[in-house]
Amino acid sequence: MSYKVTLIPGDGIGPEVSAAARRAVDATGVKIDWEIAELNPDIISKTGQSLPQHVVDSLERTGIGLKAPVTTPIAGGYTSVNVALRKRLDLYANVRPVRSLPGLITRFSDVKIDMVIFRENTEDLYSGLEHEVITDVVTSLKVITRTASVRIAETAFRFAASAGRKKVAAIHKANIMKLADGLFLRCCREVAQRHPEIEYKELIVDNASMQLVIKPEQFDVLLLPNLYGDIVSDLAAGLVGGLGVVPGANLGEKHAVFEAVHGSAPDIAGKGISNPTAMMFSAVMMLNHMGEQSAANRLQNAVEKVYSDKRKLTPDVGGTAGTAEFTEAVIAAVAERSIGGASPI
Ligand code: NAD
Repeated sequence: MSYKVTLIPGDGIGPEVSAAARRAVDATGVKIDWEIAELNPDIISKTGQSLPQHVVDSLERTGIGLKAPVTTPIAGGYTSVNVALRKRLDLYANVRPVRSLPGLITRFSDVKIDMVIFRENTEDLYSGLEHEVITDVVTSLKVITRTASVRIAETAFRFAASAGRKKVAAIHKANIMKLADGLFLRCCREVAQRHPEIEYKELIVDNASMQLVIKPEQFDVLLLPNLYGDIVSDLAAGLVGGLGVVPGANLGEKHAVFEAVHGSAPDIAGKGISNPTAMMFSAVMMLNHMGEQSAANRLQNAVEKVYSDKRKLTPDVGGTAGTAEFTEAVIAAVAERSIGGASPI
């Protein structure tokens, strides 16, 4: 059987890390008919569409995407194509597992970190509703709805129950945004009542950020609105080795798009030193989603083996190898017999 998957190479380090992840997936033997959908600043300016139709059409056909990052201009220019894609396909749950990697030395290597972030993906301050009321006075609308809050909370609790996780922490700023974050929290509480087997607690986002740094091992499943989820994801990535190693999935009812937490990393693009681990782990999540658990485990174990071995790591995680050397080491390890290890999610 052959699967159809949309591969979005993106820009910056995107083409390097997505090519590496594609080779690693192909090495597992799962047959994938990759449909390449180019999506980058050039295409966006040529088509004049912030979300070019060919990308949506491809994802409508395949239902599954493996997506590399796409640059978004800062303080001007076109709106984020990443946000547009999540909204257009109603990819409401952004799921990001954050785990310590075997053998990887970080500032937190002495604690076992294993948490999964559930970030609402379609609203909040990412509504894009901004308005200059008069010169130098701007408003930016934070949109929180019951529908979106309940479904992300339900997704997080159902995942916790099915994955044998024990705790969900809802993260908010409802002491200040009493209506918006208050509604998000009320929805989380309602959903929590339907899952009494899961311990539920709430943390204000500033305290949660400190707790994540001083005692990261206490966290299990985190449940957040869009903006806090975005920020906390990068903070959590920093605990386990950085943005080069944390994968993600954007899940909706009909489509699933897998992508790393990181962006296009223009500072290292084209240097051959980007770390494809996050894209490879996103591909592991994709294989699991497709029901290819054995291939997913093999790829997961292969990456972990390269980390345990330490010799072929990229500079962001303390090594001296390039993207190509790391990728070859993973592919060689995929070919070896699977040696156990846990899936990232
Ligand atoms: P970034 O994630 O691109 O980079 C932050 C830092 O992490 C940089 O120092 C970079 O070199 C490093 N880094 C990131 N990924 C790495 C990897 N795989 N290997 C080694 N080092 C890595 O964040 P940024 O610089 O704030 O954003 C750059 C651009 O990416 C912006 O235009 C932003 O909008 C966009 N972005 C896109 C997505 C997406 O497509 N989903 C996500 C985040 C940011």
